[in-house]
Amino acid sequence: MNIQDIHNLFLQCSSLSIDTRKIERNSMFFAIKGENFDANTFAKEALDLGALYVVIDNESYFIDDRTILVEDSLQTLQELAKFHRSYLALPIVALTGSNGKTTTKELINVVLSKKFKTKATIGNLNNHIGVPLTLLSFTKETEIGIVEMGANHQKEIEFLCQIAQPDFGYITNFGKAHLEGFGGVEGVIAGKSEMYQYLYANQKTVFVNLEDPIQIEKSKGIKSFTFGVKKESADLNIQEITANPFVAVSYNDFKIESHLIGLYNANNINAATAIGKYFEVTEADIKNAVEDYVPANNRSQMMQKGSNEIILDAYNANPSSMAVAITNFLQLDKNNKIMILGDMFELGKESLYEHKVIVDSLATQDQSLSFLIGKSFYSNRVLSDNIKFFETFDAFADFLKSFKFDSNTILIKGSRGMALERTLEYIA
Ligand code: ATP
Ligand code: MG
Repeated sequence: MNIQDIHNLFLQCSSLSIDTRKIERNSMFFAIKGENFDANTFAKEALDLGALYVVIDNESYFIDDRTILVEDSLQTLQELAKFHRSYLALPIVALTGSNGKTTTKELINVVLSKKFKTKATIGNLNNHIGVPLTLLSFTKETEIGIVEMGANHQKEIEFLCQIAQPDFGYITNFGKAHLEGFGGVEGVIAGKSEMYQYLYANQKTVFVNLEDPIQIEKSKGIKSFTFGVKKESADLNIQEITANPFVAVSYNDFKIESHLIGLYNANNINAATAIGKYFEVTEADIKNAVEDYVPANNRSQMMQKGSNEIILDAYNANPSSMAVAITNFLQLDKNNKIMILGDMFELGKESLYEHKVIVDSLATQDQSLSFLIGKSFYSNRVLSDNIKFFETFDAFADFLKSFKFDSNTILIKGSRGMALERTLEYIA
């Protein structure tokens, strides 16, 4: 069966599923092999649960004429997504970058949905499986698709662009994330820039943040729509940015007062505003969309517990996002500040050095107390009145039993694996 035939069958289905626990009636089920399981074994169950067709890549699990046997289910999923994308021929905005992809994607989606029927990546489904699933969720009704692309090694973004064939692209930033897989910062720049190469080769359009010299340099020659602070020549000129602690941005004729914390979110807001402007969403609609957006899932959430004010940013961390979060926090005009920071993962041989940089910067300031948790911070421990080190979360939890937070402003940030949101239980 060729991909067009499979696509015809897919169009008869209500949706696509790779997980029998979340399967919908009349869907098409793809049996994708994971690290720990072989989904071919679930093909029968999928049909019993109401799937119309199942795609498998192991003939021993063939059931009946509802079974589609292919060479490799994952590859077929990717080819089907590419075919479906061409079949729909809708404009697609793709974004990648080291930090801020999901936040920016959500902001772009709320802005564009004021005027268009949009569909965007759900949650963080941004890899070689998530991008195809996103594309296959688009329908004839979808007017603009917004696709988040994640990568932790070279050629991944190139591969995802070949599947999604974006008409518009934006790279949030080039930071120190996934250094291990990319081979250092230069590797990150090369890897993310694969999106620019795609846009260039296919004469597509890029959105460029003029505050970022790497974006300017690497996107040269591509048709662009730009934004920058006090830059008359930019397509979107930004007048002023404040963060106290919520980010507010003034443009020529309007001002957005967001619910987002952290100056870095100004970049995310500006990107969404620029894209809204490009697609001619009204300023009032852009403003309302961004102002109504409240982040969830531990991404820069502001909360109050007892007498304490907490900035919960425990969703993830890497050297770039950690550095901006710390700078921002230290600038806040608050008393009794405490930073609770956890190890940053996936840094490979740069790990010790990057943790040391953070420790050194914390040791030379006296505006905030710091609690540093995890093996990598612990290996870099220094004697300092303002820093306490804990090798494990359990050791920290033990300490918290006899420590009382009182009228503190607290920043909580660490890699996902550190699950620092557990700290909340100890703050009354
Ligand atoms: P993931 O790799 O998990 O998909 P992501 O790129 O989608 O991450 P977000 O989930 O939007 O990023 O944000 C994660 C964290 O990155 C935020 O909580 C914040 O600390 C930091 N961050 C967000 N935007 C930026 C930005 N523009 N520049 C630097 N850091 C940012
Ligand atoms: Mg994300």
